Amino acid sequence: MDLKTPLSSALSTKPEYIKALAEMDLHTVEDFLLYFPRAYEDLSQLKTLDQVKDGEKATVRGTLTGLQNSRVKGRMNLTKALFFDAKGNGAEVVWFNQPFLARMLPMETEVIISGKVQIQYGRTTLQSPEVEPVKEMQIHTAGLIPVYPEHGVISSRWIRNKLYPLLHEVSKFEELLPPEIVAEEHLISKPMSVHEIHFPSTRERLAQAKDRLAYEELFLLQLNAVLRKLEWQKSRPKDSPIHPLTMDVDFVKNFLSTLPFTPTGAQKVAIYEILRDFEKPYPMMRLLEGDVGSGKTVVAAVALLNAVLHGYQATILAPTEVLARQHLVSLGRFVAEYEAKFPPKKPMNVQLLIGSLKTAEKRAIQAGLADGTVDIAVGTHALVQETIKFQKLGLAIVDEQHRFGVKQREVLVRQGAPHILHMTATPIPRTLAMVAYGDHDLSVLNEMPPGRQPIETKVVPPEMRSKLNQFIASRIQKGEQVFVICPLIDESDTLEVKSAKQEQEHLQAIFPQFRVGLLHGRMKSEEKDAAMLAFKNKETDILVSTSVIEVGIDIPNATVMLIEGADRFGLSQLHQFRGRVGRGSQKSYCFLCTQNASESTVARLRAMVDHTDGFKLAEIDLKLRGPGEVYGVRQSGIPDLKIASMANGVLVSRVRKAAEHLVEKDPELASLPALKATLAELRGRLEKEE
Ligand code: ADP
Ligand code: MG
Repeated sequence: MDLKTPLSSALSTKPEYIKALAEMDLHTVEDFLLYFPRAYEDLSQLKTLDQVKDGEKATVRGTLTGLQNSRVKGRMNLTKALFFDAKGNGAEVVWFNQPFLARMLPMETEVIISGKVQIQYGRTTLQSPEVEPVKEMQIHTAGLIPVYPEHGVISSRWIRNKLYPLLHEVSKFEELLPPEIVAEEHLISKPMSVHEIHFPSTRERLAQAKDRLAYEELFLLQLNAVLRKLEWQKSRPKDSPIHPLTMDVDFVKNFLSTLPFTPTGAQKVAIYEILRDFEKPYPMMRLLEGDVGSGKTVVAAVALLNAVLHGYQATILAPTEVLARQHLVSLGRFVAEYEAKFPPKKPMNVQLLIGSLKTAEKRAIQAGLADGTVDIAVGTHALVQETIKFQKLGLAIVDEQHRFGVKQREVLVRQGAPHILHMTATPIPRTLAMVAYGDHDLSVLNEMPPGRQPIETKVVPPEMRSKLNQFIASRIQKGEQVFVICPLIDESDTLEVKSAKQEQEHLQAIFPQFRVGLLHGRMKSEEKDAAMLAFKNKETDILVSTSVIEVGIDIPNATVMLIEGADRFGLSQLHQFRGRVGRGSQKSYCFLCTQNASESTVARLRAMVDHTDGFKLAEIDLKLRGPGEVYGVRQSGIPDLKIASMANGVLVSRVRKAAEHLVEKDPELASLPALKATLAELRGRLEKEE
């Protein structure tokens, strides 16, 4: 046996278990050993019954006797037994609906049992405890007990049973980290850390194991990011038409003077950072992060115009045609203002290139891109996937969601490796961005333009719904519009679509006088565009949507955002939804509807009422629900980390430095073959997800 042995031959178990493991993406001994506990129960304190307290989870050594099985209330099956500890104290033990236990429980022999204690009127009861005969290896009832994420037939207990005998295989894990780092960071060995993470001998050891594994996990990601960044920087071909551009300070001043507002400090800094990148001899890869409404478009416009004024072409890409059109309009406005005040020798030629154009129109624009007569192409992401040919593409800006995958980067390298600017409205906390977008430099618009009206946000319990409907009707009668977001349904988008359709019908029945539109993920992109356009053109009053609603869509007349099942979304995503309203001059509202009245849910949703800053909300999300839930991170191709906390900024920065240091010293990783191989595997996985 070794780490690559399939679980089907390493474990003696039924095929249904092997199938369930495969569904958990566990195929080999290695996968299984790297399936880490989600928590631990501390059962290291053995007690006697006179020491246990009501409500606690206690572990006691003693003997079971007097087993009884019975039915109560017709349906429930109750298994009861008596338990006596070594001092002769007695307790009753009960299990519910597990009639098979009767055959399996070790009676009249020494056991350790561990379960929740209830003491009522002086009588002690242990509820649904784990039971284990003393002579067996105590992996279920002694010390720190690992608790695993369960799936179907695979219970935590089952995993403990099957994993324990495989533990000797941990010695085959190779050391991946450079020895200097292991020494400097005082890390324990890889085999020991895997052993201890499953069956910790002490709390201290467990902490060391976690530190060790977290370090390695972050290190691999950072190393990958650092190498990828370097590769991109080196990717510009020798004969590329793109060369360093010196910053034209006059142009920037002139352009900013044509704006109807003063740019924020954050906008100026971002512009400066981008133009500085243009001066470098290698292509930029930068992420511009800024909350909804923070003014990313102006920054993009400066970058685009700057490229064009230096004789290059530029392009800006959006996820949908509606958003591309929106960019065309705002960009057109900036260009017009600028050229009115500073008449150019030759006006800038800005064109929209989207799938729905007539073939002849598309051909004409593509010809213009190839011969250089078109300066700026505004389009959808598809623009780069096509075998598009620019004469001299200096800058590509991507708005929202899509990072360029491997294939698209290759296309861009063939175009001479232009500068790349990604923009996102997802406020990703800086340390998280360092992991999720580690191959990018970062510019952050952390300052909102002055004079925004706050959006009034309320958590709405079910009993307030009819009042809310009246309120909605009153807004629509004033000529305003309403977004309704349907609850997130994880299991399938078929269900989600169904619930969206039901919601639409339901609202249409409540509001026969209004027009209710529908938008969901199963629609073709033309259908989505049409639904969005109909709403934008006020042909519908209410737009019911699943969570596919586009980030960035600008409908100033929409003043109400109603989110059904709000508790099912992360705060960052709720904040994104909220950003769809409050874009006009009227007061706007965001209603968070929830059936779930639990204190923690309401407290989490209250954060939306208390905070208007997306970065703050993302940080709360990160703490409460982990990085996968921070909207936009899941799409970024970074897997959920198993152990490491991305909230640990100090560690992330330290790991980053170590990775950079290693790449400086040994960019080919020639001295670390195991690390190199694992990294290649990781990269394969990440790129498949892209
Ligand atoms: P986003 O970052 O969400 O793309 P936009 O670029 O669409 O934000 O900007 C939102 C609105 O704010 C636009 O109407 C824009 O003209 C305006 N705006 C941008 N920067 C400023 C500023 N510094 N002061 C005032 N208004 C601004
Ligand atoms: Mg925008």
